[in-house]
This record gives sequence, C-alpha cells and structure tokens, in this order.
Amino acid sequence: MPRPAPTELPTTMRAARILGPHRTEVATVPVPTPGPDEVLIRVRRAGVCGTDLHILHGDYALARFPMTPGHEFAGTVAAVGDEVRGVAVGDAVTADPNVPCLVCPECRRGAWNQCHDLSVVGVTRDGAFAPFVAVPERVVVGTDGLSAAAGAMVEPLACVAWGLRRVRVRPGDDALVFGAGPMGCLLLQAVRAAGAARVVVVDPVRGRRDAAAELGGDLTITPEDTDRLASFAPLGFDLVADATGVPRVVEDAVRYARPGGTLWVFGVAPEEARVRLSPFELFRRDLSVVGSFAVNGTVPQAVAMIRGGSVRVEPLVSHVLPIERFAEGLELAESDPHRMKVQFAFGADAAGDAIDRAADRAADGAAPAGG
Ligand SMILES: [Zn+2]
Ligand SMILES: [Zn+2]
Repeated sequence: MPRPAPTELPTTMRAARILGPHRTEVATVPVPTPGPDEVLIRVRRAGVCGTDLHILHGDYALARFPMTPGHEFAGTVAAVGDEVRGVAVGDAVTADPNVPCLVCPECRRGAWNQCHDLSVVGVTRDGAFAPFVAVPERVVVGTDGLSAAAGAMVEPLACVAWGLRRVRVRPGDDALVFGAGPMGCLLLQAVRAAGAARVVVVDPVRGRRDAAAELGGDLTITPEDTDRLASFAPLGFDLVADATGVPRVVEDAVRYARPGGTLWVFGVAPEEARVRLSPFELFRRDLSVVGSFAVNGTVPQAVAMIRGGSVRVEPLVSHVLPIERFAEGLELAESDPHRMKVQFAFGADAAGDAIDRAADRAADGAAPAGG
C-alpha cells in the first residue's frame, strides 16, 4: 500500500533535559531518527508525574543522565521505520512507556511490568518532554477521538486499570480512597465505573476535594474528619485504596476495611519506608493487601475508558506550559498543593490562550489548604 509522502521534518528540536540531580535545561538536540521497527511521534501534550520528580532528585535508580524525561504523552505519528506496518503517518497515538524484553521469565508469563530487562520511555531512553519522541511500534496505541490533553492522561489511567485487575470491585461495593490528586481522582472514577456503589475520598486540600466531588465522590472529607466514616459505612469499606504514598496513611487505612476487604497500595511510598500492620488483624478479618505497579497491557483499556466517558480526565489538567518553562513546570508539580496534572504543550497546542485558560481554571479552583 502506498504511504503518504513524509512531510518535511526539522532536524533539531528544543528538548527538556535533566543533566544530573537538580540540574535541568532546555537544549537544542537532534530530532531522533526512528529505527526500522520504531515510530516517530510528534508530541502534542506530555504530563509531569512523580517519577519525573524522582529522576530530578537523582533517586530513581533506572535513570541515566543526561536524559529527556516524559512518559505520559500523546501526539501524532510523524514518521515510521521500514518495518512498521500497523501505524501510519498522521495517526493520533499515545504509547505504553514500558518496553518489555518479551523473553525473560516474567515477560513469558505476561507480567510485562515485572520484566527483568525493562526499558522505559522517559526513564531509560529519551522521553516526550520534547517535540518528537521515537518508540517501538509494539508499544504504540491509537487515541482516535481523544484530545491531546486526554491522550496524555492515558498512561496514568492505565496504571489504575492495571490495579483494578488485581483488586476485585463488585457491584454494590463501598470504596474509600485516600488522596484526591490526579491519581486519586482517576482511581475514584475507575472504581465507580467498575461497579462500586459509593466512593468516599479523603484529602486535606479543598480544591482537590471539590474536584473529587465534581467527578463523582459521594463524600469528600479532610483527614481530620475520618470519624464520619463510621456512620457513612458502619460495616467498613470493601476496598480501601491509598493514592498518597504516605506511609502513615497506609498504616492507618487498614482499619477502615470491612472484613474480607482489600487494602490497595497504589501510591508510591519512599523505598525505605516501613509500616506497622497487625498480622493478627489481617488473619482475623480475612483482609487482603494488594499492590499494583505501573501498567501491564492496560493502555488500550484506558483509552476505551476515556473514549466511553466512564472516566473524565480533562478536568484534572490544571496547568499547561510550553516546554521552555520546563523547570517551572517541575517546580509546580513538586510544591504547589493545589495543582492537579501539569502538562507541557508543543506545536500549535503550545500557542495562545489554551494555556491561559487552563491556568485560569486552576486559579479559580484553588482554595486555601485545610478544612
Ligand atoms: Zn507516570
Ligand atoms: Zn522481560
């Protein structure tokens, strides 16, 4: 089949770089040339995630400096390698950033997220905080019908979707979610879409609680208000999910689980953190503790969830910046308690009032911390 003639691509681009711990720049670098089995994606949006901040701090073991981060992104296909068959120039796409080896024992049993030789776009290879990124065809997923902002939320939702395969949500369940940041708000909606009857969300920041209420939380409360949970769900919660990564929250969460219930460890806690759990309580109350790591073949599922409307992602984008403001974007993601998802925009998307409107919305939604 004849392919459309490739449109003229630039040879250099302005990409965000992390040079070493706490050292960033936006530099002119070559546009990557896709290998035979690779797809060159013209990035339109790319979101900042906690992993990017860990890389910035130099405490993410897999990352090698200097590097371009960015693993939550969406764009259009700009060029394809000779062996690429399933994707064409102009297609709207995102990618699963995890590129598993496919031959190790974990890959062979389908646990690609546990691959012994995992390559990760934006971690072990250059990522999408740049106008172009090259990825293998086998991780590219189509995003027809999604905006670029929504497409860049597919990867975080795919993490939630993987966890949902590990925990069990049954129709009529009550769920409790700690944390109403972007992840907590995705989790709340996905749990509801999976059949939960009621979802309660706990977060100290009012703007975030408002977002959770807007997106379907039945009750949104501060951590100081958790004594209200006993009257809301006297038997306890079938599912208690931590989307904070705060060890103290995880330790405390287990007591809200109903007998036979599940504690879902989803937030990323510091590697060296330890919590105290009572083995007797886990035994006596038939409790399950379930972790879920990253994405495992769930990117198409996340696209379907957004496309079908069961999960709304665009309201979770609070800030959109051009990549020249890379350092500022990371700073926002790191230390603004009101921010939700921070995204970088490229090309036509980076120009004009789209950015200002998102920032205005964020300012409107922002409220003083606490009760
Ligand atoms: Zn991420
Ligand atoms: Zn493997």
